[in-house]
Amino acid sequence: MLRVAIQSKGRLNEESTALFQEIGISVDDSKRKFLSQSANFPLEVLYMRDDDIPQVVASGTASLGIVGLNEVEEKGVNVEIVERLGFGGCRISLAIPKAEAADYDGPQYFNGKRIATSYPNILRKYLADNGIDAKIEIITGSVEIAPAAGIADAIFDIVSSGGTLVSNGLKEVEKVFWSEAVLIAGPGLTDEDRKYLDEIRFRLDSVKVSRGKKYLLMNLPQASVEEAVKILPAMRSPTIMPLAADGWCSMHSVVNEADLWDKIRQLKAIGAEGILVLNVDKIIP
Ligand code: ATP
Ligand code: MG
Repeated sequence: MLRVAIQSKGRLNEESTALFQEIGISVDDSKRKFLSQSANFPLEVLYMRDDDIPQVVASGTASLGIVGLNEVEEKGVNVEIVERLGFGGCRISLAIPKAEAADYDGPQYFNGKRIATSYPNILRKYLADNGIDAKIEIITGSVEIAPAAGIADAIFDIVSSGGTLVSNGLKEVEKVFWSEAVLIAGPGLTDEDRKYLDEIRFRLDSVKVSRGKKYLLMNLPQASVEEAVKILPAMRSPTIMPLAADGWCSMHSVVNEADLWDKIRQLKAIGAEGILVLNVDKIIP
């Protein structure tokens, strides 16, 4: 039985649970539970605070975990990063009061300053790498109010949109560490654990490949098929089926969502009609 530690509440909880659903592993997310077993996969979910997940996986209490890369790096434990999961994206940055921003002249600015953070290890490494001598003030929550409260001169904290910094009169001056949610594995996986982990990875990959893809079908004059094949480079080649009406066929293909409207414009120009755009759930290459 694979035990997977995920965040019990907070930013990564919903997307972690949704990910299991996307890969066909049912998990009872009834929030009250500490441990819940899947009904259709040999897996149980252990709900924890994100700070505890790296250690729980490193110690083997859970075989796998879903957690921010920032927490893994900060805790410095021995776990394998199995997959980047593409959600929970953020960075850890140095920020200073906006009023001081005109004096900012690069990382050396932080010499002799007090910096508040919940990520002392990542910060310590950055300061050492840049030869900066600053004082680290460890705060576990509401780091962004530290300068206004007189606790520190600057902060080193998580930023995603930057809105929290702006509303606290701070300016981001150095982006130090990039993070997203990752699937981690501990050192003591059994052969059986590995087998189920491989199955999870296979399913995750099929979901990842399908992200940002759309399935296109359309009716096309037979005479335009050659042109359409040039517009639609599918996985192997587009599927073409005859229609009952003479001189027409139906063409199917998968396109990147980013190119969708451009492709549709080109296809209409060569006579495509009745274009349908469908979502793609999974792609098994
Ligand atoms: P817990 O109660 O589990 O300790 P927490 O308050 O420490 O939760 P959350 O704020 O829920 O943590 O954030 C969890 C993770 O989400 C972070 O460690 C980070 O990887 C990611 N994340 C993404 N964007 C942001 C953001 N804007 N602010 C904070 N965390 C973010
Ligand atoms: Mg936490």
